[in-house]
Amino acid sequence: MSIDSISERQKLSSSHQHKHCVSKAKTRFVERLREMGKGVGRNDEPVLNLLLSNHQIFSAYDIAEKISEMGRRVQPIQIYRSLEKLMALGLVHRLSTRNGFIACYEDGECATGQFLICTECESVKEIDSQLINREISDSAQENSFSIANKSVEVLGLCSNCQDA
Ligand SMILES: [Zn+2]
Ligand SMILES: [Zn+2]
Ligand SMILES: [Zn+2]
Repeated sequence: MSIDSISERQKLSSSHQHKHCVSKAKTRFVERLREMGKGVGRNDEPVLNLLLSNHQIFSAYDIAEKISEMGRRVQPIQIYRSLEKLMALGLVHRLSTRNGFIACYEDGECATGQFLICTECESVKEIDSQLINREISDSAQENSFSIANKSVEVLGLCSNCQDA
């Protein structure tokens, strides 16, 4: 699937102003790099820009293929390096149930990572519930459980795909 058809579908399927999401995320990218004292790698911006084309899941292979199509051959391993960095900066999340990645459009620090994932169109809505977050921490503590990854991935159908 081309980026055009993905973003076209996203446009049809949602009424929100995606350019606001993008400009907010880009501002955050610049701020986070500065805070962490990191420079921009060769693939970091192309990877982020691609992820910012919509609210859908991309695999590292999709990303490598699409960036390569734009004219410069890149391998998934190089893409993983950028993804690791973008995740460390809190700008990208890994979704383990779908083996893919999405851009984060939240404000400020995003540490909770709760997602409503549509298994039909692969669109993702990130939710930020402090209640769920706290509940997980409390339950872990009661069970002397040491948390490595707190993210919650809820699978189902988005409103558009239920109608289809
Ligand atoms: Zn958006
Ligand atoms: Zn996030
Ligand atoms: Zn859907």
